[in-house]
Amino acid sequence: MTIIDSARPTAQPHITVMVPAYNEEKNIASTLQNISAVLQQMSPHWDIVVVDDGSRDHTAQVVQTLVDIHHVTLVRFSRNFGKENAISAGLSYAKGDCVICMDADGQHASELMLSMLEKWREGNDMVYAVRQDREQESSFKLWGSRAFYRMMSASSHIEIPRDAGDFRLMDRKVVDALCALPERNRFMKGIYAWVGYKSVGIPYTPLPRLHGESAYSKLKLIALAWTGITSFSVLPLRLASLTGVVLALIAFAYGAVVVVDTLFFHESIPGWPTVVASMMFFAGVQLLFIGILGEYLARVYDEVKGRPPFIVADVVQPSAASAAQTAALTSADSQSAPVKSPTLVKKPAPRRRKPASDA
Ligand code: UDP
Ligand code: MG
Repeated sequence: MTIIDSARPTAQPHITVMVPAYNEEKNIASTLQNISAVLQQMSPHWDIVVVDDGSRDHTAQVVQTLVDIHHVTLVRFSRNFGKENAISAGLSYAKGDCVICMDADGQHASELMLSMLEKWREGNDMVYAVRQDREQESSFKLWGSRAFYRMMSASSHIEIPRDAGDFRLMDRKVVDALCALPERNRFMKGIYAWVGYKSVGIPYTPLPRLHGESAYSKLKLIALAWTGITSFSVLPLRLASLTGVVLALIAFAYGAVVVVDTLFFHESIPGWPTVVASMMFFAGVQLLFIGILGEYLARVYDEVKGRPPFIVADVVQPSAASAAQTAALTSADSQSAPVKSPTLVKKPAPRRRKPASDA
């Protein structure tokens, strides 16, 4: 039996689509066009939040011209803070009863939002899209992601669904729970899984990028995976302790053999090359594990400093008239809507509701 939240406005929910964008000047207009076309079929109440993550191109300028047409709130960062932080910012500005996160490069088909909403109406709080095309990816990404998920599931108490990214629908209570988390090192895949709630996956195949290239190089992907592992697992620390114990046992056994040899068989003690080799080995292992400790310490240091995870330079909101128009435009072509001058707001406080559990 499905238990559906009675407070959930399933008939005509307010839907917010949140789009993090970094150097997407060639993609963002058609992505917003596709999103708003599908949103109009979904509900009369909707809006879009675009977070410009310190783009070096004209992404913000392009979005600014579309603010009223697609009922967009444009949140501009003071510099590039990374996708994870852009998502966090977008969530805190999202007003919807359900919030959908989508990429700006056209890889996420807007039509999938219809199936996501259907699953939400059935009582799911989080509906995530699961990639079906992993086999066609480069062997680095394929094996890397396999190793990552295997390590996470072996070492962490939370279960991160395989091949599920940021393309997902979240109920208001999930968004509130995510916004209430104070941590600064945000690994969103882990955080989505950590907050829990009733979740379901739906399959999808990403479309080719419209223009440009992925911002995630191999190095960035490794750094992201490492953030995930150190944020959600203490496995590297445990491995360090375990290796220390094993090496200490081996050293003890070797010492015992040397003592027995000397006492009973008067055999000569091995010469200095053995000593030097083992010293170098032990020193190497120690340095490696001090490094791992340092990684965790660096995360603690980052949290303790208490710096905000991102800085919002300004926010452009649609004019009040366009908000009223959006509802009336549900069946009309959105491109024909007259463009009103958008409102520039300096760093307003993001809207944050208290998590449902606090109520
Ligand atoms: N993105 C971002 N900040 C960044 C890098 C990427 O907001 O520092 C956005 C980007 O504009 C896109 C989404 O995150 O909307 C996914 O990025 P990308 O397409 O480069 O990654 P991939 O599809 O390879 O995972
Ligand atoms: Mg992409």
